[in-house]
Amino acid sequence: MSFIESPERVALRKSVADFAASYGSDYVRDKTDAGEHLTELWLEAGKLGFLGVNTPEEYGGGGAGIYELSLVLEEMSAAGAGLLMMVVSQGINATIIGRFGTEEQKRRWLPGIAAGTFNMAFGITEPDAGSNSHRITTTGSRDGGDWILNGRKVFISAVDQADAVLVVGRTEDAKTGKLRPALFVVPTDAPGFVYQPIDMELRIPDRQFTLFLDDVRLPADALVGSADAGLMQLFAGLNPERIMGAASAVGIGRLALGRAVDYAKQRSVWGAPIGTHQGIAHPLAQNKIELELAKLMMQKAATLYDSGDDMGAAEAANMAKYAAAEAAVRAVDQAVHTLGGNGLSAEYGVARLLNIVRISRIAPVSREMILNFVAQFGLGLPKSY
Ligand SMILES: Cc1cc2nc3c(=O)[nH]c(=O)nc-3n(C[C@H](O)[C@H](O)[C@H](O)COP(=O)(O)OP(=O)(O)OC[C@H]3O[C@@H](n4cnc5c(N)ncnc54)[C@H](O)[C@@H]3O)c2cc1C
Repeated sequence: MSFIESPERVALRKSVADFAASYGSDYVRDKTDAGEHLTELWLEAGKLGFLGVNTPEEYGGGGAGIYELSLVLEEMSAAGAGLLMMVVSQGINATIIGRFGTEEQKRRWLPGIAAGTFNMAFGITEPDAGSNSHRITTTGSRDGGDWILNGRKVFISAVDQADAVLVVGRTEDAKTGKLRPALFVVPTDAPGFVYQPIDMELRIPDRQFTLFLDDVRLPADALVGSADAGLMQLFAGLNPERIMGAASAVGIGRLALGRAVDYAKQRSVWGAPIGTHQGIAHPLAQNKIELELAKLMMQKAATLYDSGDDMGAAEAANMAKYAAAEAAVRAVDQAVHTLGGNGLSAEYGVARLLNIVRISRIAPVSREMILNFVAQFGLGLPKSY
């Protein structure tokens, strides 16, 4: 791993930043408030190759890795135009299908995912399992050559914008005990598949849904990978999810910090800009340091992942997601404070970030579950549950 980004990555960063700025946070705010999706932004990002940057070239992508995909999301988020769907459709699903799908499945799904014209949501969270994925009960049973899927999911993002959902279940044969996940691609128009929006207090363009799967009949090739391949198959997608979660948080933190710094340079109430006062300057400097450190860990995690080191990437991805969420939450809070009353006004667009950034401590994996992971795998401490 080099600590210096290659000229190609620097150039990608710049083109994504320029593209995202051409839409900007006002576009996202207006769309969100109107209850609309960011369709133009999404499709143009797809056309420009940004969404498919990590998809292999033979399936219509750029042939790069999670490093580049996270770079894209970081820059989009830093411009106030983060795309949550990238975390699931390209981050998790394209990765899992690319690594474990059959040739036919890759040809069917990857080009559309890379272009942003076929969107796939991701459903693992269940009402009675929550953070404890070992307790999921969504079950696939065989019926001749088909699968029959039954279960419930909650908080599944962007199902209304998706053509399909990659649903994490288990098979009838592996119904209890340690989770051996089975991953099914479920079209959103499949009979027996119903989704209902959850009334969230979030000011983001992507909604969350409860899913009801009642005797959903799927063909044999809806199953991606083997029926009980073990957790590694699932984590092949969840580590990129964590890296992408970190990228989104780092981007939001950078956006908030940038706004705070601009304000601190021009706002003057005692004859000098408020940024002159160390009570304002030092916390912002601290935010900068914390965001840079989180980003470095994110880049390490992505580098490990792209080099094929799944176990090494798992710890780094968890640490990156933790560090990025904490840094971003603090950066947004400090930005609000730096702007004083304006920090809570609609005009400056910082208060809105308070609401958005809070997601990063809970999803895709909560702060506490990361601490549990590091305590057990990094420190060898006994499991508490
Ligand atoms: C905006 C948003 C988008 C989402 N999108 C998706 C999606 O697309 N797909 C999907 O599958 N899911 C999605 N989720 C769900 C998300 O992954 C879960 O909310 C998250 O994993 C936490 O699960 P839970 O809400 O059931 O909390 P719970 O598991 O009920 O936990 C509640 C609290 O208890 C803590 N806790 C639980 N167990 C322990 C423990 N052993 N030790 C210490 N603390 C513990 C948790 O950290 C948390 O703070 C989304 C959630 C949100 C908010």
